[in-house]
Parts: sequence; structure tokens; C-alpha cells
Amino acid sequence: MSDNEVDPDELGESVERPMFRLFTEYGDDHIHWFIIGLLTSISARFLALVPPVVLGVALDAVFDDKRPFSLPLLPETWIPPTTIGQFWFSVQIMAIAMVFGAFSNFARSSSLNLFSHRVKHEVRTETYQWMQRLDMEFFDDHKTGELMSILNNDTNRLELFLDNMMGSAIQLVVLVIGIGAILFWRNPQLAVVTLAVIPIAALFTWWFMRRIEAFYADIRSSVGDLNTRLENNLAGVEVIKTAGTEEFEDERVRKASYKYFKRDWKALRMNFIYRPGLQLLTSIAFIATFIAGGLWLLSDRPILWFSGNFTSGDLVIFLLLTQRMVEPLTQMSEVVDRYEDAKASSRRIFGLMSIPPAITSSPDAVELDSVDGRVDYEHVDFAYEDDGERVLHDVTFTADPGETVGLVGPTGAGKSTICKLLPRLYDVTGGEIRVDGTDVRDLTVESLREHIGYVGQDTFLFDGTVEENIRYGAFDAEEAEIIAAAKAAEAHEFVTNLPEGYDTRVGERGVKLSGGQRQRISIARTILADPELLVLDEATSAVDTETEMLIQRSLDKLTEDRTTFIIAHRLSTVKGADTIISVEDGEIVERGTHEELLGNDGLYADLWRVQAGEIDALSTEFVEEASRRASANQINQGSN
Ligand code: ADP
Repeated sequence: MSDNEVDPDELGESVERPMFRLFTEYGDDHIHWFIIGLLTSISARFLALVPPVVLGVALDAVFDDKRPFSLPLLPETWIPPTTIGQFWFSVQIMAIAMVFGAFSNFARSSSLNLFSHRVKHEVRTETYQWMQRLDMEFFDDHKTGELMSILNNDTNRLELFLDNMMGSAIQLVVLVIGIGAILFWRNPQLAVVTLAVIPIAALFTWWFMRRIEAFYADIRSSVGDLNTRLENNLAGVEVIKTAGTEEFEDERVRKASYKYFKRDWKALRMNFIYRPGLQLLTSIAFIATFIAGGLWLLSDRPILWFSGNFTSGDLVIFLLLTQRMVEPLTQMSEVVDRYEDAKASSRRIFGLMSIPPAITSSPDAVELDSVDGRVDYEHVDFAYEDDGERVLHDVTFTADPGETVGLVGPTGAGKSTICKLLPRLYDVTGGEIRVDGTDVRDLTVESLREHIGYVGQDTFLFDGTVEENIRYGAFDAEEAEIIAAAKAAEAHEFVTNLPEGYDTRVGERGVKLSGGQRQRISIARTILADPELLVLDEATSAVDTETEMLIQRSLDKLTEDRTTFIIAHRLSTVKGADTIISVEDGEIVERGTHEELLGNDGLYADLWRVQAGEIDALSTEFVEEASRRASANQINQGSN
């Protein structure tokens, strides 16, 4: 298995302390927002505890006259001497605490949200940047839906935890400490009864966290699977409709969705136990406090092992504060839930980020500046997978500067693969490829690719206007240059006939244009980029013969003074090439000019006869080989 065949899920499992890394690697630039959030969370919770305490104290001092008015942290001199004065003083303190509490909450949620959204933005862009630089091999092995799910869903999960949930967790800690301190201040013995629930809740939470962790990893990977299915089906909707396979696809989507549902449900079921469990625990604390405190007040003397004084004001403080713990404690389940969820997501993100791009510029790589255009393939062997089948064997040929090399041969022979090795979309397994005498692996990847134009079989256009698509890669080109390139690619005429000319939007992947139109736009893009080395991989396969003839003229001009590789099924396209190479089963079986190869009476001559319609003149050997290949292809398709 090669480096890039690894799975982000699997790699993620070995990521240590993903949440800590998330904080240190992406959070440190925004840590000031986090600190403001932390401080305002503390003050919001602290201020929320003030009214119940003031109420309890006022009850004893103002209404029952059982104790003098006194509050912790409040200087004695501030307290008014009269009862009515103390009453209004209590109202003031409660009002101030409430107003500042509201302000703290505002500051808390805005700063924590700012923090989490910034972190999310950075994680997403960096993950994208990293992913984009991974090798083609990585993209061959990973499905778009799965990658989209990492970029979108997983980063969203992080944000969900980082804003609300982290705030809640902080508040919970502050609350438990604050309430604990107040209860101990009022009555340490009863405080023990009330707070006994906390360690039990902590144990319960620990048990829950351990069980749910695995569920979340499963959920995240089934979301990826479902996304892949959906993405695939939406992209292939035309095939589904024409093949009438709606029901088959309904079933496949149903299965993927059901798997997701089942895993989600498993985690939810755990939640159904955990949440009410926590609620029950806090209710037990509430009732126990009410029973113990109530009996104490009723009998007017300490019960059980209790000693000292206890007033109705104390009971109010105890009950109100215990009540205040119920909601945050039950929220704890959500915090844990989201934490586990976010941890699974950050594992996947860091798993992806730990996949190294294999095709990179070596440290002593040189820039490819001016290019003469000599290309040498020397004993090139290639396999797509490390231990996989060799797709190319000992491919050796030379293209002199400005020469055109035609590559012909049956489907699957390895023609595209030969061309993909030139810009290092993949690296050779053996042998070497040189440009102007330098091994492509000793050149910087960027400078190498800058000088190579590649027009592939699947012409891909980006959602945008025709002009933007032609300009793509040569962003500062003048309008006149764009039009000249379009004219050279025989695209100008149909573009000007479009409703908005060059400003017409082409739709996603260029769906609003025909295959031939898309191909001409992508040829125009290459003409505009003006590369020294050109690869045309079935570049004119989607156009009709008449348009091909027109494009051919412009391509002849384009290829005149630059080294060009042309792969074509229609042999008329390569007829004029300086050298034609026939490839079969990954090997070069003959080479020469059109006339030489016809004289050779080998594979090329047979292919030529097929296209000329001279079926009767074909050699029996060729017909046998062709049917062998056709049946091999069918077997391959059947096994897919
Ligand atoms: P051609 O261009 O002559 O039709 P290709 O170069 O596309 O042939 O393919 C050569 C062989 O490599 C085929 O057997 C094909 O199945 C295999 N192949 C092509 N692309 C990949 C890939 N990305 N991963 C694995 N195998 C591939």
C-alpha cells in the first residue's frame, strides 16, 4: 500500500490529543477572544448566583429579622442601617447583577462565537489547501463525498463545540465551584448532602464518554459514505435516468442512509439514558436538600448529625442554587456529546493533514526557465499501485524540440498514463523522464507544470463565464488575447452566438455547453496559456469531423513550434505527426512516420484499415487480439 492510499479515518485513530492540537495549532492566533469568552463566562455565572443569595440573606435580615444583613465580599459600611434601606439595597444589588449578567452573556457569546468561527475558517481553508496539494493517487483512492464531508461537516462539528458547548462547560465548572463555595459558607454540613451528587454525576459522565466515543467515530465515517453516495448519484443523474435505475439507486441511498441512521440512533439511545440520568441525580439532590433542610426547620433543631443554626433564608438559598445546577448539569450531556463529536471530527481532519504529498519539489530542485522542448522517456516503468500491475514497461522514446509525437493504440494500452507522467501527476516507478536533459523529479513541480499545457479527454469547466474559463490560469490576459485564443480554437463563433457572449455562464462543470464546445473552450484556455510543451489527450474526441477539421488547422498552428504529444483514436489527427508510437499493453510496439508504419503492416496499419473501413483487409492476428481485448474489457467491467 502506498503512502497516499491511507484513509483519514484510520490515520485519525493514531492522532494524539486532537482537541488540544486544535487549540494550539489553530486557536492560538485568536486566543484573546477565547480569554474574553472565558472571563465573561465566569462573570456571567457568578452574577447569576447573586440574586438567590441576596434573596436568602434579605429574607432572614429584612423579613424575619433572624440574622444581620451581610454578604460575602461586601464591605459592612455599604450596608444601610434601616430595614427598608436594606430592602432597597437588596433590590439594587439584584438589578445590577442582572444587568451586568446580561451584558456578560452578550460578551461571552460574541467572543466565543468569534473564536470558534475563526478557528473553523482556518481549519477549513488549511485542510483544503493541504488536500489540494495531495497527489492524484490520493484522489483516485478517495471519494469526493467523503472529502467534502471532512471539509464541511467535520469543520462544522468543531465550531458547534467550540462556541456554545465550550462556553457551557466553562460555566458549569464556575457554577459548581461558586455554588459549592456559597453552600459551604451558609452551612457546610447540608452542603455535603446537596453536593454529594456531583462526584456521582462525574462518574456517570466518565462512563458515558467512554462508551460514546466509538459511536461517534462510526457516525462520522458513515456520514462520509452517505455523502459519497449522494454526490456520486447527483453527478451521474443522467446515467441513472437513461438507464432507468432509479429504484436501484433508491435502494443504495436507502441503505447508506439507514446505516447512518442506525449508528446515529445507537449514540442517541445512550443519550436517552444519560440525560434523564443526570436530571434524576440533580432532582435527588434537590429533594434530599429539601427533606433535610425542611425537617431541620420544622423541628427547630438539627437532625441526624447536623449541628448549628439553619434558617428559612438558608433553605431558600440552598433550594434556589440546587435548582440552578439542574439545567447546566443536564446540559453537561450535550457538552460531552458535542465534545466527543468534535473529537471524532478533529481526528479525521488531523488524519487527513498527516497524509504527506508524495510528489513535491525535492530540496535541490531547479526551476525550469526557458524551455527548448526536448523530452526523453528512458526505460520508463509504471504501476498505479506500489505492488500493482505494471501499466507501462520499458517505454523509451525521444521528442526533439518542436516535434509532434502521436500516440496510438487500443483503449487501456497506457497512452494517457505515458502523458500523465510528464507533468508528474504520477511519478515513474522505474526509469526516468527528462525535459531538456533534466529529470522531471529534479525540477520544481510548479515550474514544470507551468510549461506544460494539458487538454484532457474529460474537459472540465468551472462554474463561471466563458471568459473566466478561458482566462483560467492566465488571469491577467487582455480581452483581445482571450478573443484571439478563442478564434484560434474555433470557439469564437459559437461563443458570440451564446445569449450573453463571453459573459454567458457555463453552468456547473459546463453542463450548458455541448461536449465539443467545452473542448474548444479548454483548447482556447491552453492556447492562451501558451505552454512550450503540449499534451492533447483525445482533445478533439467530442467534436464532429467538420469542427475537428477546423480545430485541427488551429492545432497545427499551435503545435508547429512546440513539443506536442497527441493521443488520438481518429488516426487522421496524428497522421502528420513527426513520430507515431503504437502502444499495446503498456509497451511500445512500433514507431515511425505514418508512411513508415503503413509500410510496416503492423498494429498501426491494422488500426488505419479499421478506420478506412477496410475490415476485410485486416490481419487475423489483429482481429483475434481485438476480440481478446474486448472480452478482457468486458470482464473488467463486470468485476467493477
Ligand atoms: P489509454 O490512455 O491507452 O486508454 P490508460 O493510460 O488510461 O490507457 O490506462 C492504462 C491502464 O492503466 C489501464 O489498464 C487502466 O485501467 C489503468 N489505469 C488508468 N488510470 C488508473 C488509475 N488512476 N488507477 C489505477 N489504474 C489506472
